[in-house]
Amino acid sequence: MKPVEIFFFPYLGGGHHIPMIDAAIVFASHGASSTILATPSSAPNFQKLITRHHKAGLPIAIHTLSADVPDADMSAGPFLDTSALLQPLRHFLLQRRPHCIVVDMFHRWAGDMVYELGIPRILFNGIGCFARCVQRILFNAAIESLSSDSEPFVVPNLPDRIEMTMSQLPPFLRNPSEVPERVRGMKQLEEKSFGTLVNSFYDLEPAYADRLKDKWGKKAWIVGPVSLCNRTKQDKTERGKPPTVDEEKCLNWLNSKKPSSVLYISFGSLARLPPQQLKEIAYGLEASDQSFVWVVGKILHNPSENEENGSGNWLPEGFEQRMKETGKGLVLRGWAPQLLILEHAAIKGFMTHCGWNSTLEGVSAGVPMITWPLTAEQFSNEKLITEVLKIGVQVGNREWWPWNAEWKGLVGREKVEVAVRKLMVESAEAEEMRRRVKDIAGKAARAVEEGGTSYADVEALIHELQAHTLPNQA
Ligand code: UDP
Repeated sequence: MKPVEIFFFPYLGGGHHIPMIDAAIVFASHGASSTILATPSSAPNFQKLITRHHKAGLPIAIHTLSADVPDADMSAGPFLDTSALLQPLRHFLLQRRPHCIVVDMFHRWAGDMVYELGIPRILFNGIGCFARCVQRILFNAAIESLSSDSEPFVVPNLPDRIEMTMSQLPPFLRNPSEVPERVRGMKQLEEKSFGTLVNSFYDLEPAYADRLKDKWGKKAWIVGPVSLCNRTKQDKTERGKPPTVDEEKCLNWLNSKKPSSVLYISFGSLARLPPQQLKEIAYGLEASDQSFVWVVGKILHNPSENEENGSGNWLPEGFEQRMKETGKGLVLRGWAPQLLILEHAAIKGFMTHCGWNSTLEGVSAGVPMITWPLTAEQFSNEKLITEVLKIGVQVGNREWWPWNAEWKGLVGREKVEVAVRKLMVESAEAEEMRRRVKDIAGKAARAVEEGGTSYADVEALIHELQAHTLPNQA
């Protein structure tokens, strides 16, 4: 029998791109012939990694679609128009007719075309079961009689009692009658799909995984954490794209620290923090007196300023020099090997924007978190981390806003200091969080091994596709 052939069509932003490449590696390691559909500017980021896996015998390849949507630095915003890829994609699908294509939800235009070709389409939307349940429920429920966006309400019909405020939600969930066309497009992508692929694992959020699988009429295969497919140091270093920070310097610095003593800080691939916020973080960190590695991503500037990637004077006077001299902190500018850092024995905590990948990576590394959600579904992820799993402390941001808009919710240095101390300084509460997250990390590792739930879901999908006869093959 011809092996199952699956196409993976990732979006271009880091948080959506990276897990899809991991997923392709996972399915290839289960014997499915996996092809990653790339663009001329995205392919070089992971070419070496995939070539290495291919040479090691995995049935995996990259196909570059001959139209470009430029994004060399992994920070495409969620609504970049990728429809220039439609014709090359259609052509390649007709040529190869795979058993199925896994499509990221941000390729909103792909739904009808793939549907018309009769090729099963599986949706990947990059978020976990808990956040999907919250979205789904709020999309269909009218929350009324709130006096303000900051008044808490209980999200109805969830297995746990979760309170949120409107200020923590994207506009289309605050007012479901005003759903923008592009969000509608994403919903349609799901409606006609064969099912959804979820990067999570059953034991992380069992009640929510059950909801997703049983209640909403769409098949869901929960196959993560897919990042665990990166097993060697080289794979972890090159995952996503090769680091632009000096990873040896970073690892040597971490090697010089005591086990479980360093806070890792990163806000993912997309977030842009303004200089005032970075300053507050710096002051808060210094006051907390804890060791840290801080990956400074993109910076949100006033149009009048002209700095990129942290080269400007946004840190407090002498901060970096003091951190160097005391050995307290390492400030990295650029793209860091996050998996390697999180898994290092010196790491004790993770200050995160609660992007779903970062959340899962923190969980898989057994590291408790300081949650600082900014946008997308990150406020739901914060609830999962701090209230359901109880493996993190909130820094206290309450304001959702679009990733590229002006910064609204400046979090002051005192709040940063308090949260850092709460997580990093020994206490019964911190110890309990650490114990819980280590236990969950063990479950994550077991989920992807033979006999585990995610392993079984990958096998189940492959078998289902094998049994599914395509219209043109009947
Ligand atoms: N990442 C990384 N190095 C960086 C910044 C981010 O490897 O310097 C990776 C991180 O490990 C994660 C992804 O980029 O896999 C970010 O995804 P997430 O969902 O956490 O956030 P987003 O970038 O989508 O906001």
